Amino acid sequence: MCGIVGYTGQRKALPILLDSLKRLEYRGYDSAGVAIVGSELKVVKDKGFIANLEAQLPAIEGTTGLAHTRWATHGAPSKVNAHPHVDCSGRLAIAHNGIIENFMEIRERMEKEGHVFASQTDTESLVHLVESYYDGNLETAVRSALREVRGSFAIAAVHADEPGRIVGARNESPLVIGVGPDENFLASDVPALLKHTDKVLYILDKEIVVLTASGVAISDLEGRTVSREPERITWTLEDAEKGGFEHFMLKEIFEQPAAIHETLLGRIANLDVNGFFAEGFTSVKLVACGTSYHAALVGKYILEEIAQIPASAELASEYRYAHGPSERPLVILLSQSGETADTLGAMREAKRRGCKTLGICNVVGSSLAREVDKTIYTRAGLEIGVAATKTFVTQLVALYLIALRGGLDRGTLGYEEADGLKDQLRSLPRAVQAVLNRSEEIERLAEKYRDAKDMFYIGRHVNYPVAMEGALKLKEISYVHAEAYAAGELKHGPLALLTPATPVVAIAVRDHTYEKMRSNIGEVVARGSPVLAIASEGDREIVKFVDDVLAVPELPGIFNPAPVTVAMQLFAYHLARTRQCPIDKPRNLAKSVTVE
Ligand code: GLU
Repeated sequence: MCGIVGYTGQRKALPILLDSLKRLEYRGYDSAGVAIVGSELKVVKDKGFIANLEAQLPAIEGTTGLAHTRWATHGAPSKVNAHPHVDCSGRLAIAHNGIIENFMEIRERMEKEGHVFASQTDTESLVHLVESYYDGNLETAVRSALREVRGSFAIAAVHADEPGRIVGARNESPLVIGVGPDENFLASDVPALLKHTDKVLYILDKEIVVLTASGVAISDLEGRTVSREPERITWTLEDAEKGGFEHFMLKEIFEQPAAIHETLLGRIANLDVNGFFAEGFTSVKLVACGTSYHAALVGKYILEEIAQIPASAELASEYRYAHGPSERPLVILLSQSGETADTLGAMREAKRRGCKTLGICNVVGSSLAREVDKTIYTRAGLEIGVAATKTFVTQLVALYLIALRGGLDRGTLGYEEADGLKDQLRSLPRAVQAVLNRSEEIERLAEKYRDAKDMFYIGRHVNYPVAMEGALKLKEISYVHAEAYAAGELKHGPLALLTPATPVVAIAVRDHTYEKMRSNIGEVVARGSPVLAIASEGDREIVKFVDDVLAVPELPGIFNPAPVTVAMQLFAYHLARTRQCPIDKPRNLAKSVTVE
Protein backbone atom coordinates (compact mmCIF):
# COMPACT_ATOMS: atom_id res chain seq x y z
CA MET A 1 0.00 0.00 0.00
CA CYS A 2 1.32 3.51 0.73
CA GLY A 3 1.48 6.45 -1.60
CA ILE A 4 4.50 7.78 -3.45
CA VAL A 5 4.76 11.05 -5.36
CA GLY A 6 7.63 12.65 -7.22
CA TYR A 7 8.13 15.97 -9.00
CA THR A 8 10.81 17.44 -11.22
CA GLY A 9 10.42 20.70 -13.09
CA GLN A 10 10.85 24.44 -12.77
CA ARG A 11 8.68 25.03 -9.70
CA LYS A 12 9.47 24.55 -6.03
CA ALA A 13 8.95 20.85 -5.38
CA LEU A 14 7.86 20.88 -1.74
CA PRO A 15 4.36 22.42 -1.94
CA ILE A 16 3.53 20.35 -5.02
CA LEU A 17 4.67 17.15 -3.33
CA LEU A 18 2.69 17.81 -0.16
CA ASP A 19 -0.48 18.67 -2.02
CA SER A 20 -0.18 15.59 -4.23
CA LEU A 21 0.71 13.33 -1.32
CA LYS A 22 -2.42 14.35 0.60
CA ARG A 23 -4.48 13.09 -2.32
CA LEU A 24 -2.94 9.67 -1.77
CA GLU A 25 -3.33 9.60 1.99
CA TYR A 26 -6.14 7.04 1.69
CA ARG A 27 -3.40 4.56 0.69
CA GLY A 28 -1.64 4.68 4.05
CA TYR A 29 -1.14 7.16 6.82
CA ASP A 30 1.02 5.89 9.65
CA SER A 31 3.98 8.09 8.78
CA ALA A 32 5.10 10.41 6.02
CA GLY A 33 8.25 12.00 4.64
CA VAL A 34 9.81 14.08 1.85
CA ALA A 35 13.19 14.18 0.15
CA ILE A 36 14.13 17.30 -1.83
CA VAL A 37 17.19 17.69 -4.00
CA GLY A 38 18.47 21.27 -4.12
CA SER A 39 22.11 22.05 -3.66
CA GLU A 40 22.09 18.99 -1.42
CA LEU A 41 19.61 16.25 -0.40
CA LYS A 42 17.26 17.13 2.41
CA VAL A 43 14.98 14.53 4.03
CA VAL A 44 12.29 15.25 6.62
CA LYS A 45 9.93 12.59 7.97
CA ASP A 46 7.81 11.77 10.97
CA LYS A 47 5.25 9.42 12.43
CA GLY A 48 1.57 10.20 11.87
CA PHE A 49 -0.55 11.93 9.25
CA ILE A 50 0.86 14.15 6.51
CA ALA A 51 -0.54 17.20 8.32
CA ASN A 52 1.80 16.42 11.21
CA LEU A 53 4.79 16.38 8.87
CA GLU A 54 3.66 19.55 7.17
CA ALA A 55 3.39 21.41 10.48
CA GLN A 56 7.07 20.94 11.17
CA LEU A 57 8.53 21.34 7.68
CA PRO A 58 11.01 24.16 7.13
CA ALA A 59 10.95 25.87 3.73
CA ILE A 60 13.12 23.65 1.54
CA GLU A 61 14.38 24.96 -1.77
CA GLY A 62 14.75 22.59 -4.70
CA THR A 63 12.79 21.74 -7.83
CA THR A 64 13.09 17.96 -7.64
CA GLY A 65 11.87 15.64 -4.92
CA LEU A 66 9.77 12.76 -3.75
CA ALA A 67 7.40 12.05 -0.87
CA HIS A 68 5.78 9.05 0.77
CA THR A 69 2.85 8.23 3.03
CA ARG A 70 3.31 4.83 4.63
CA TRP A 71 1.27 1.75 5.55
CA ALA A 72 3.79 -0.29 7.50
CA THR A 73 4.51 -3.89 6.56
CA HIS A 74 7.97 -4.31 8.11
CA GLY A 75 8.90 -2.28 11.16
CA ALA A 76 6.58 -0.34 13.43
CA PRO A 77 5.02 2.93 12.32
CA SER A 78 7.70 5.31 13.62
CA LYS A 79 9.85 8.21 12.57
CA VAL A 80 12.90 6.09 11.79
CA ASN A 81 10.89 3.61 9.74
CA ALA A 82 9.15 6.38 7.78
CA HIS A 83 10.20 6.78 4.15
CA PRO A 84 12.16 8.08 2.27
CA HIS A 85 15.15 6.06 3.44
CA VAL A 86 18.69 7.25 2.79
CA ASP A 87 21.96 5.43 2.16
CA CYS A 88 25.14 5.71 4.26
CA SER A 89 26.32 8.78 2.35
CA GLY A 90 23.03 10.59 2.96
CA ARG A 91 23.00 11.47 -0.76
CA LEU A 92 20.58 8.79 -2.06
CA ALA A 93 16.92 8.64 -0.99
CA ILE A 94 14.28 6.07 -1.91
CA ALA A 95 10.54 5.82 -1.24
CA HIS A 96 9.02 2.38 -1.67
CA ASN A 97 5.59 0.83 -1.86
CA GLY A 98 5.43 -2.94 -1.45
CA ILE A 99 7.54 -5.64 0.16
CA ILE A 100 11.12 -6.68 -0.57
CA GLU A 101 10.80 -10.39 0.18
CA ASN A 102 14.52 -11.23 0.31
CA PHE A 103 15.35 -8.19 2.42
CA MET A 104 16.96 -10.20 5.24
CA GLU A 105 19.46 -11.78 2.90
CA ILE A 106 20.31 -8.44 1.32
CA ARG A 107 20.52 -6.71 4.68
CA GLU A 108 22.95 -9.27 6.07
CA ARG A 109 25.12 -9.00 2.98
CA MET A 110 25.12 -5.21 3.07
CA GLU A 111 25.91 -5.13 6.78
CA LYS A 112 28.86 -7.45 6.15
CA GLU A 113 30.05 -4.99 3.53
CA GLY A 114 29.94 -2.26 6.17
CA HIS A 115 26.60 -0.54 5.45
CA VAL A 116 24.90 0.88 8.52
CA PHE A 117 21.13 0.49 8.78
CA ALA A 118 18.92 2.95 10.61
CA SER A 119 15.47 1.32 10.35
CA GLN A 120 13.71 -2.03 10.63
CA THR A 121 12.12 -1.77 7.18
CA ASP A 122 12.57 -4.12 4.27
CA THR A 123 12.95 -1.02 2.10
CA GLU A 124 16.26 0.06 3.57
CA SER A 125 17.98 -3.07 2.25
CA LEU A 126 17.18 -1.88 -1.27
CA VAL A 127 18.60 1.57 -0.54
CA HIS A 128 21.96 0.17 0.51
CA LEU A 129 21.95 -2.26 -2.40
CA VAL A 130 21.49 0.62 -4.83
CA GLU A 131 24.24 2.50 -2.99
CA SER A 132 26.57 -0.46 -3.45
CA TYR A 133 26.11 -0.24 -7.22
CA TYR A 134 26.22 3.54 -7.48
CA ASP A 135 29.03 4.96 -9.56
CA GLY A 136 27.51 8.21 -10.76
CA ASN A 137 24.47 6.81 -12.62
CA LEU A 138 21.35 6.28 -10.52
CA GLU A 139 19.41 4.55 -13.29
CA THR A 140 21.98 1.80 -13.82
CA ALA A 141 22.49 1.37 -10.07
CA VAL A 142 18.71 0.93 -9.59
CA ARG A 143 18.60 -1.52 -12.50
CA SER A 144 21.42 -3.63 -11.09
CA ALA A 145 19.87 -3.65 -7.62
CA LEU A 146 16.41 -4.59 -8.83
CA ARG A 147 17.74 -7.62 -10.64
CA GLU A 148 18.57 -9.04 -7.21
CA VAL A 149 15.34 -8.12 -5.49
CA ARG A 150 12.33 -10.41 -5.05
CA GLY A 151 8.92 -9.05 -4.13
CA SER A 152 6.63 -6.23 -5.01
CA PHE A 153 7.67 -2.65 -5.38
CA ALA A 154 6.97 0.73 -6.79
CA ILE A 155 9.91 2.98 -6.00
CA ALA A 156 11.12 6.49 -6.56
CA ALA A 157 14.78 7.39 -6.06
CA VAL A 158 16.78 10.62 -6.13
CA HIS A 159 20.50 11.29 -5.71
CA ALA A 160 22.18 14.54 -4.70
CA ASP A 161 24.79 14.01 -7.43
CA GLU A 162 22.08 13.99 -10.10
CA PRO A 163 19.77 16.91 -9.30
CA GLY A 164 16.78 17.24 -11.59
CA ARG A 165 16.41 13.48 -12.04
CA ILE A 166 14.03 10.92 -10.50
CA VAL A 167 14.34 7.22 -11.16
CA GLY A 168 11.20 5.13 -10.68
CA ALA A 169 10.50 1.42 -11.12
CA ARG A 170 7.71 -1.03 -10.55
CA ASN A 171 6.88 -4.66 -10.06
CA GLU A 172 3.37 -5.58 -8.87
CA SER A 173 2.72 -2.20 -7.21
CA PRO A 174 1.16 0.68 -9.10
CA LEU A 175 3.15 3.55 -10.59
CA VAL A 176 1.91 6.21 -12.95
CA ILE A 177 3.70 9.14 -14.58
CA GLY A 178 2.08 12.53 -15.14
CA VAL A 179 3.42 14.31 -18.19
CA GLY A 180 3.50 18.11 -18.25
CA PRO A 181 5.23 20.82 -20.21
CA ASP A 182 8.68 21.38 -18.68
CA GLU A 183 7.80 19.27 -15.65
CA ASN A 184 6.98 15.66 -14.92
CA PHE A 185 5.33 13.83 -12.05
CA LEU A 186 5.31 10.36 -10.61
CA ALA A 187 2.65 8.88 -8.35
CA SER A 188 1.12 5.68 -7.02
CA ASP A 189 -2.28 6.73 -8.26
CA VAL A 190 -3.95 9.22 -10.58
CA PRO A 191 -5.59 11.55 -7.96
CA ALA A 192 -2.14 12.89 -7.11
CA LEU A 193 -1.71 14.12 -10.68
CA LEU A 194 -5.12 15.54 -11.53
CA LYS A 195 -4.30 19.10 -10.49
CA HIS A 196 -1.35 19.27 -12.86
CA THR A 197 -2.01 17.20 -15.94
CA ASP A 198 -4.42 14.82 -17.64
CA LYS A 199 -1.67 13.09 -19.62
CA VAL A 200 -0.48 9.92 -17.94
CA LEU A 201 1.81 7.01 -18.69
CA TYR A 202 1.27 3.77 -16.80
CA ILE A 203 4.51 2.02 -15.87
CA LEU A 204 4.31 -1.77 -16.15
CA ASP A 205 5.97 -4.54 -14.17
CA LYS A 206 9.76 -4.76 -14.38
CA GLU A 207 10.09 -1.35 -15.97
CA ILE A 208 12.30 1.56 -14.97
CA VAL A 209 11.45 5.16 -15.68
CA VAL A 210 13.71 8.21 -15.61
CA LEU A 211 12.10 11.62 -15.19
CA THR A 212 13.67 14.99 -15.85
CA ALA A 213 11.92 18.33 -16.35
CA SER A 214 12.05 17.86 -20.09
CA GLY A 215 11.44 14.15 -20.57
CA VAL A 216 10.29 10.71 -19.50
CA ALA A 217 12.32 7.66 -20.56
CA ILE A 218 11.07 4.13 -19.93
CA SER A 219 13.19 1.00 -20.19
CA ASP A 220 13.04 -2.58 -18.99
CA LEU A 221 15.26 -4.30 -16.45
CA GLU A 222 17.60 -5.35 -19.26
CA GLY A 223 18.02 -1.73 -20.32
CA ARG A 224 16.00 -1.95 -23.53
CA THR A 225 14.08 1.21 -24.39
CA VAL A 226 10.28 0.96 -24.12
CA SER A 227 8.17 3.39 -26.14
CA ARG A 228 4.70 4.23 -24.89
CA GLU A 229 2.40 7.15 -25.69
CA PRO A 230 0.68 9.03 -22.84
CA GLU A 231 -3.03 8.40 -22.30
CA ARG A 232 -5.63 11.02 -21.40
CA ILE A 233 -7.57 10.52 -18.19
CA THR A 234 -11.15 11.60 -17.77
CA TRP A 235 -11.32 11.90 -13.97
CA THR A 236 -11.22 15.51 -12.84
CA LEU A 237 -9.86 17.26 -9.80
CA GLU A 238 -13.43 17.69 -8.61
CA ASP A 239 -13.76 13.90 -8.48
CA ALA A 240 -10.84 13.88 -6.06
CA GLU A 241 -12.35 16.48 -3.72
CA LYS A 242 -15.13 16.30 -1.16
CA GLY A 243 -17.54 18.66 -2.93
CA GLY A 244 -19.18 19.97 0.24
CA PHE A 245 -19.52 16.58 1.99
CA GLU A 246 -17.91 16.10 5.38
CA HIS A 247 -16.20 12.89 4.31
CA PHE A 248 -15.27 11.20 1.05
CA MET A 249 -17.22 8.17 2.22
CA LEU A 250 -20.46 10.16 2.49
CA LYS A 251 -19.85 11.80 -0.88
CA GLU A 252 -19.28 8.40 -2.43
CA ILE A 253 -22.38 6.90 -0.78
CA PHE A 254 -24.42 9.69 -2.31
CA GLU A 255 -22.83 9.20 -5.72
CA GLN A 256 -24.26 5.70 -5.99
CA PRO A 257 -27.37 6.38 -8.08
CA ALA A 258 -25.17 8.13 -10.66
CA ALA A 259 -22.52 5.44 -10.43
CA ILE A 260 -25.05 2.66 -11.09
CA HIS A 261 -26.31 4.63 -14.04
CA GLU A 262 -22.77 4.85 -15.43
CA THR A 263 -22.23 1.12 -15.06
CA LEU A 264 -25.40 0.45 -17.02
CA LEU A 265 -24.83 3.09 -19.65
CA GLY A 266 -24.59 1.76 -23.18
CA ARG A 267 -24.65 -1.81 -21.88
CA ILE A 268 -28.12 -2.57 -20.68
CA ALA A 269 -30.14 -2.35 -23.86
CA ASN A 270 -28.19 -5.02 -25.75
CA LEU A 271 -26.48 -6.51 -22.69
CA ASP A 272 -23.26 -5.49 -24.27
CA VAL A 273 -20.84 -6.98 -21.79
CA ASN A 274 -17.87 -9.24 -22.17
CA GLY A 275 -19.47 -12.51 -21.21
CA PHE A 276 -17.93 -15.83 -22.09
CA PHE A 277 -20.98 -17.95 -21.73
CA ALA A 278 -21.37 -18.56 -25.42
CA GLU A 279 -18.16 -20.56 -25.01
CA GLY A 280 -19.96 -23.21 -23.03
CA PHE A 281 -18.73 -22.87 -19.47
CA THR A 282 -20.51 -25.11 -17.03
CA SER A 283 -19.54 -23.27 -13.86
CA VAL A 284 -18.21 -19.97 -12.55
CA LYS A 285 -15.77 -19.23 -9.75
CA LEU A 286 -15.80 -15.70 -8.32
CA VAL A 287 -12.59 -14.67 -6.58
CA ALA A 288 -11.90 -11.50 -4.57
CA CYS A 289 -10.95 -10.00 -1.19
CA GLY A 290 -12.72 -7.82 1.39
CA THR A 291 -15.78 -5.96 0.16
CA SER A 292 -15.23 -7.27 -3.37
CA TYR A 293 -15.44 -10.78 -1.91
CA HIS A 294 -18.87 -9.92 -0.56
CA ALA A 295 -19.84 -8.80 -4.06
CA ALA A 296 -18.51 -12.16 -5.27
CA LEU A 297 -20.72 -13.98 -2.75
CA VAL A 298 -23.76 -11.99 -3.87
CA GLY A 299 -22.66 -12.76 -7.45
CA LYS A 300 -23.02 -16.46 -6.76
CA TYR A 301 -26.76 -15.99 -6.08
CA ILE A 302 -27.18 -13.61 -9.03
CA LEU A 303 -25.50 -15.97 -11.50
CA GLU A 304 -27.27 -19.05 -10.24
CA GLU A 305 -30.69 -17.44 -10.20
CA ILE A 306 -30.55 -15.40 -13.40
CA ALA A 307 -28.18 -17.43 -15.59
CA GLN A 308 -28.85 -20.83 -13.98
CA ILE A 309 -25.13 -21.54 -13.91
CA PRO A 310 -23.47 -23.15 -10.88
CA ALA A 311 -21.27 -20.55 -9.20
CA SER A 312 -19.10 -20.36 -6.10
CA ALA A 313 -17.08 -17.62 -4.45
CA GLU A 314 -13.63 -17.92 -2.92
CA LEU A 315 -11.25 -15.57 -1.15
CA ALA A 316 -8.35 -14.65 -3.41
CA SER A 317 -5.80 -15.27 -0.66
CA GLU A 318 -7.14 -18.81 -0.27
CA TYR A 319 -7.74 -19.63 -3.91
CA ARG A 320 -4.20 -18.81 -4.96
CA TYR A 321 -2.73 -21.47 -2.69
CA ALA A 322 -5.47 -24.08 -3.03
CA HIS A 323 -4.99 -27.31 -4.93
CA GLY A 324 -7.79 -26.86 -7.41
CA PRO A 325 -9.72 -29.64 -9.11
CA SER A 326 -9.08 -30.27 -12.78
CA GLU A 327 -12.40 -28.75 -13.90
CA ARG A 328 -11.97 -25.31 -15.53
CA PRO A 329 -14.67 -22.83 -14.54
CA LEU A 330 -14.82 -19.28 -15.86
CA VAL A 331 -12.96 -17.31 -13.18
CA ILE A 332 -14.33 -13.86 -12.42
CA LEU A 333 -11.96 -11.65 -10.41
CA LEU A 334 -13.25 -8.57 -8.64
CA SER A 335 -11.06 -5.72 -7.39
CA GLN A 336 -11.81 -2.01 -7.07
CA SER A 337 -8.28 -0.91 -7.83
CA GLY A 338 -7.28 -3.82 -10.04
CA GLU A 339 -4.04 -3.80 -8.06
CA THR A 340 -5.02 -5.97 -5.07
CA ALA A 341 -2.02 -8.27 -4.64
CA ASP A 342 -4.03 -11.31 -3.53
CA THR A 343 -6.48 -10.96 -6.40
CA LEU A 344 -3.68 -10.55 -8.94
CA GLY A 345 -2.02 -13.66 -7.50
CA ALA A 346 -5.31 -15.56 -7.79
CA MET A 347 -5.76 -14.36 -11.37
CA ARG A 348 -2.32 -15.67 -12.30
CA GLU A 349 -3.08 -18.96 -10.57
CA ALA A 350 -6.36 -19.24 -12.51
CA LYS A 351 -4.47 -18.73 -15.75
CA ARG A 352 -1.89 -21.29 -14.72
CA ARG A 353 -4.75 -23.74 -14.25
CA GLY A 354 -5.86 -22.99 -17.78
CA CYS A 355 -9.01 -21.03 -16.86
CA LYS A 356 -10.44 -18.14 -18.82
CA THR A 357 -10.50 -14.98 -16.69
CA LEU A 358 -12.91 -12.07 -16.54
CA GLY A 359 -12.05 -9.01 -14.45
CA ILE A 360 -14.49 -6.60 -12.81
CA CYS A 361 -12.65 -3.48 -11.73
CA ASN A 362 -12.87 0.26 -11.48
CA VAL A 363 -9.48 1.45 -12.63
CA VAL A 364 -8.84 1.62 -16.33
CA GLY A 365 -5.45 0.25 -17.29
CA SER A 366 -4.88 -1.44 -13.91
CA SER A 367 -2.81 -4.62 -13.66
CA LEU A 368 -5.92 -6.79 -13.38
CA ALA A 369 -7.47 -5.22 -16.46
CA ARG A 370 -4.30 -5.69 -18.45
CA GLU A 371 -3.80 -9.34 -17.58
CA VAL A 372 -7.29 -10.89 -17.64
CA ASP A 373 -8.80 -12.17 -20.86
CA LYS A 374 -11.67 -9.69 -20.65
CA THR A 375 -12.59 -6.79 -18.35
CA ILE A 376 -15.79 -5.09 -17.35
CA TYR A 377 -15.15 -1.68 -15.84
CA THR A 378 -17.52 -0.61 -13.10
CA ARG A 379 -17.12 3.09 -14.01
CA ALA A 380 -17.90 4.14 -10.43
CA GLY A 381 -15.48 7.05 -10.67
CA LEU A 382 -12.72 7.71 -8.22
CA GLU A 383 -13.28 6.14 -4.79
CA ILE A 384 -11.14 7.65 -2.05
CA GLY A 385 -12.87 6.65 1.20
CA VAL A 386 -11.03 3.59 2.50
CA ALA A 387 -14.33 1.80 3.13
CA ALA A 388 -15.61 0.75 -0.30
CA THR A 389 -19.16 1.86 -1.10
CA LYS A 390 -19.99 2.78 -4.67
CA THR A 391 -17.51 0.31 -6.06
CA PHE A 392 -19.32 -2.54 -4.25
CA VAL A 393 -22.72 -1.57 -5.57
CA THR A 394 -21.42 -1.12 -9.12
CA GLN A 395 -19.71 -4.50 -8.93
CA LEU A 396 -23.14 -5.95 -8.21
CA VAL A 397 -24.54 -4.12 -11.23
CA ALA A 398 -21.79 -5.56 -13.43
CA LEU A 399 -22.68 -9.03 -12.10
CA TYR A 400 -26.37 -8.56 -12.98
CA LEU A 401 -25.33 -7.60 -16.51
CA ILE A 402 -23.08 -10.63 -16.82
CA ALA A 403 -25.80 -12.90 -15.48
CA LEU A 404 -28.38 -11.54 -17.91
CA ARG A 405 -26.02 -11.93 -20.84
CA GLY A 406 -25.09 -15.38 -19.56
CA GLY A 407 -28.71 -16.49 -19.18
CA LEU A 408 -29.50 -15.45 -22.75
CA ASP A 409 -26.34 -17.02 -24.19
CA ARG A 410 -26.94 -20.25 -22.36
CA GLY A 411 -30.60 -20.31 -23.30
CA THR A 412 -31.64 -20.53 -19.66
CA LEU A 413 -33.30 -17.11 -19.70
CA GLY A 414 -36.03 -16.04 -22.11
CA TYR A 415 -35.98 -12.64 -23.80
CA GLU A 416 -39.21 -11.52 -22.20
CA GLU A 417 -38.03 -12.44 -18.74
CA ALA A 418 -34.71 -10.70 -19.46
CA ASP A 419 -36.58 -7.53 -20.40
CA GLY A 420 -38.38 -7.57 -17.07
CA LEU A 421 -35.09 -8.02 -15.20
CA LYS A 422 -33.53 -5.20 -17.21
CA ASP A 423 -36.33 -2.90 -16.10
CA GLN A 424 -35.61 -3.82 -12.50
CA LEU A 425 -31.97 -3.05 -13.06
CA ARG A 426 -32.82 0.31 -14.60
CA SER A 427 -34.88 1.13 -11.50
CA LEU A 428 -31.98 0.50 -9.09
CA PRO A 429 -30.70 4.11 -9.07
CA ARG A 430 -34.17 5.22 -7.97
CA ALA A 431 -34.36 2.60 -5.23
CA VAL A 432 -30.94 3.63 -3.94
CA GLN A 433 -31.91 7.29 -4.04
CA ALA A 434 -34.98 6.50 -1.92
CA VAL A 435 -32.64 5.08 0.74
CA LEU A 436 -30.34 8.10 0.54
CA ASN A 437 -33.35 10.32 1.17
CA ARG A 438 -33.67 8.65 4.55
CA SER A 439 -30.16 9.61 5.62
CA GLU A 440 -31.37 11.79 8.52
CA GLU A 441 -33.65 9.07 9.83
CA ILE A 442 -30.75 6.62 9.64
CA GLU A 443 -28.58 9.11 11.50
CA ARG A 444 -31.06 9.12 14.39
CA LEU A 445 -31.08 5.33 14.47
CA ALA A 446 -27.29 5.26 14.48
CA GLU A 447 -27.24 7.61 17.45
CA LYS A 448 -29.49 5.23 19.33
CA TYR A 449 -27.09 2.31 18.77
CA ARG A 450 -23.86 4.26 19.13
CA ASP A 451 -22.81 2.72 22.45
CA ALA A 452 -23.02 -0.88 21.34
CA LYS A 453 -19.80 -2.85 21.80
CA ASP A 454 -20.88 -5.86 19.75
CA MET A 455 -23.48 -6.13 17.04
CA PHE A 456 -24.78 -8.96 14.91
CA TYR A 457 -26.04 -8.79 11.34
CA ILE A 458 -28.27 -11.51 9.99
CA GLY A 459 -29.79 -12.28 6.60
CA ARG A 460 -30.76 -15.19 4.43
CA HIS A 461 -30.07 -16.17 0.83
CA VAL A 462 -28.63 -13.23 -1.13
CA ASN A 463 -28.91 -11.05 1.95
CA TYR A 464 -26.51 -13.22 3.91
CA PRO A 465 -23.43 -11.82 2.12
CA VAL A 466 -25.13 -8.42 2.26
CA ALA A 467 -25.20 -8.81 6.06
CA MET A 468 -21.48 -9.62 5.91
CA GLU A 469 -20.86 -6.41 4.01
CA GLY A 470 -22.94 -4.42 6.52
CA ALA A 471 -20.95 -5.86 9.43
CA LEU A 472 -17.67 -5.17 7.66
CA LYS A 473 -18.59 -1.51 7.08
CA LEU A 474 -19.41 -1.12 10.76
CA LYS A 475 -16.17 -2.76 11.90
CA GLU A 476 -14.01 -0.81 9.48
CA ILE A 477 -15.10 2.68 10.28
CA SER A 478 -16.72 2.67 13.74
CA TYR A 479 -14.53 -0.02 15.40
CA VAL A 480 -17.66 -1.65 16.81
CA HIS A 481 -17.24 -5.40 16.78
CA ALA A 482 -19.76 -6.81 14.33
CA GLU A 483 -20.41 -10.35 13.10
CA ALA A 484 -22.62 -11.54 10.30
CA TYR A 485 -24.46 -14.83 10.24
CA ALA A 486 -26.81 -16.60 7.92
CA ALA A 487 -29.96 -16.16 10.00
CA GLY A 488 -30.59 -19.91 10.11
CA GLU A 489 -27.18 -20.45 11.69
CA LEU A 490 -27.78 -18.44 14.87
CA LYS A 491 -29.28 -21.42 16.65
CA HIS A 492 -26.19 -23.50 15.85
CA GLY A 493 -23.98 -21.48 18.17
CA PRO A 494 -23.97 -17.68 18.03
CA LEU A 495 -27.28 -17.42 19.87
CA ALA A 496 -25.24 -18.11 23.01
CA LEU A 497 -23.72 -14.64 22.63
CA LEU A 498 -26.98 -12.72 22.41
CA THR A 499 -27.98 -10.53 25.35
CA PRO A 500 -29.79 -7.20 25.74
CA ALA A 501 -26.39 -5.59 25.08
CA THR A 502 -25.96 -7.04 21.59
CA PRO A 503 -28.16 -5.31 19.03
CA VAL A 504 -29.00 -7.29 15.92
CA VAL A 505 -29.47 -5.82 12.45
CA ALA A 506 -31.84 -8.17 10.63
CA ILE A 507 -32.33 -7.92 6.88
CA ALA A 508 -35.98 -8.89 6.57
CA VAL A 509 -37.11 -7.63 3.19
CA ARG A 510 -40.11 -9.28 1.55
CA ASP A 511 -38.68 -12.16 -0.45
CA HIS A 512 -39.06 -15.94 -0.33
CA THR A 513 -37.17 -16.12 2.98
CA TYR A 514 -39.27 -13.48 4.74
CA GLU A 515 -41.29 -15.87 6.90
CA LYS A 516 -38.15 -17.70 8.00
CA MET A 517 -36.46 -14.41 8.81
CA ARG A 518 -39.42 -13.48 10.98
CA SER A 519 -38.94 -16.69 12.95
CA ASN A 520 -35.23 -16.00 13.35
CA ILE A 521 -35.97 -12.49 14.55
CA GLY A 522 -38.32 -14.06 17.08
CA GLU A 523 -35.44 -16.17 18.42
CA VAL A 524 -33.36 -13.02 18.82
CA VAL A 525 -36.12 -11.04 20.50
CA ALA A 526 -36.65 -13.88 22.96
CA ARG A 527 -33.04 -13.39 24.12
CA GLY A 528 -33.71 -9.74 24.79
CA SER A 529 -31.49 -8.34 22.05
CA PRO A 530 -32.67 -5.11 20.44
CA VAL A 531 -33.49 -5.63 16.76
CA LEU A 532 -33.16 -3.12 13.95
CA ALA A 533 -34.91 -4.60 10.94
CA ILE A 534 -34.22 -3.53 7.40
CA ALA A 535 -37.60 -4.20 5.85
CA SER A 536 -39.57 -3.48 2.72
CA GLU A 537 -41.51 -0.24 2.63
CA GLY A 538 -45.11 -0.75 3.65
CA ASP A 539 -44.41 -3.79 5.83
CA ARG A 540 -46.83 -3.10 8.68
CA GLU A 541 -46.27 -6.44 10.37
CA ILE A 542 -42.61 -6.33 11.19
CA VAL A 543 -42.88 -3.15 13.25
CA LYS A 544 -44.79 -5.14 15.81
CA PHE A 545 -41.87 -7.47 16.48
CA VAL A 546 -38.78 -5.31 16.43
CA ASP A 547 -37.41 -2.19 18.09
CA ASP A 548 -36.65 -0.21 14.96
CA VAL A 549 -37.36 -0.47 11.27
CA LEU A 550 -35.41 0.97 8.41
CA ALA A 551 -37.51 0.81 5.26
CA VAL A 552 -36.14 0.18 1.78
CA PRO A 553 -38.12 0.10 -1.48
CA GLU A 554 -39.70 -3.23 -2.26
CA LEU A 555 -37.92 -5.04 -5.10
CA PRO A 556 -37.82 -8.60 -6.41
CA GLY A 557 -35.57 -10.63 -4.08
CA ILE A 558 -32.40 -10.75 -6.10
CA PHE A 559 -32.30 -6.96 -6.51
CA ASN A 560 -32.44 -6.12 -2.81
CA PRO A 561 -28.67 -6.14 -2.13
CA ALA A 562 -28.05 -2.65 -3.56
CA PRO A 563 -30.60 -0.62 -1.56
CA VAL A 564 -30.11 -2.72 1.58
CA THR A 565 -26.35 -2.24 1.41
CA VAL A 566 -26.73 1.50 0.98
CA ALA A 567 -28.93 1.61 4.10
CA MET A 568 -26.23 -0.24 6.03
CA GLN A 569 -23.47 2.00 4.65
CA LEU A 570 -25.33 5.04 5.96
CA PHE A 571 -25.95 3.34 9.30
CA ALA A 572 -22.23 2.55 9.69
CA TYR A 573 -21.26 6.02 8.52
CA HIS A 574 -23.50 7.87 10.96
CA LEU A 575 -22.62 5.54 13.82
CA ALA A 576 -18.90 6.11 13.20
CA ARG A 577 -19.51 9.83 12.96
CA THR A 578 -21.29 10.05 16.31
CA ARG A 579 -18.36 8.12 17.78
CA GLN A 580 -16.02 10.68 16.19
CA CYS A 581 -14.02 8.11 14.28
CA PRO A 582 -11.68 9.12 11.43
CA ILE A 583 -14.08 7.82 8.80
CA ASP A 584 -11.98 8.24 5.66
CA LYS A 585 -8.83 6.91 7.32
CA PRO A 586 -9.70 4.05 9.67
CA ARG A 587 -6.87 2.88 11.88
CA ASN A 588 -4.59 0.14 10.56
CA LEU A 589 -6.30 0.09 7.18
CA ALA A 590 -5.54 1.52 3.76
CA LYS A 591 -7.17 1.37 0.39
CA SER A 592 -5.93 -0.81 -2.45
CA VAL A 593 -4.03 -3.55 -0.67
CA THR A 594 -1.04 -4.14 -2.89
CA VAL A 595 0.76 -6.49 -0.50
CA GLU A 596 -0.09 -10.12 0.27
N1 GLU B 1 7.45 -2.47 3.15
C1 GLU B 1 7.66 -1.06 3.31
C2 GLU B 1 7.58 -0.66 4.77
O1 GLU B 1 7.07 -1.34 5.60
C3 GLU B 1 6.74 -0.22 2.48
C4 GLU B 1 5.33 -0.35 2.92
C5 GLU B 1 4.41 0.52 2.14
O2 GLU B 1 4.05 0.12 1.01
O3 GLU B 1 4.02 1.59 2.68
O4 GLU B 1 8.06 0.35 5.13
